[in-house]
Amino acid sequence: MTTHGPVMPVWTCGGCDMPWPSPIRKRELRGEYPDAPVSLALHLGAYLVQATEDMPWTPAGVLHRRFLGWTREVCVTGTGARTQHRAVSSCAGRT
Ligand SMILES: [Zn+2]
Repeated sequence: MTTHGPVMPVWTCGGCDMPWPSPIRKRELRGEYPDAPVSLALHLGAYLVQATEDMPWTPAGVLHRRFLGWTREVCVTGTGARTQHRAVSSCAGRT
């Protein structure tokens, strides 16, 4: 169990006090969802919904980038080749 969980309702990291998900938590999540970007996005999407309710003053686009945008930075295709700046949904379509 990670110590880098979100501290609600302020959504800082319980482990390092950075905005959640912190860089360490992102690395942990990548490890917990290897080759499963859609599962990772669904997991983070649930957090995004909660954060949107807790921080209604924060623009949705900002929260979306914070919670989900980083998952799009690198995706691993079915061939194992890494592709930069691909949306999660476009990764999922590849088999
Ligand atoms: Zn942290």
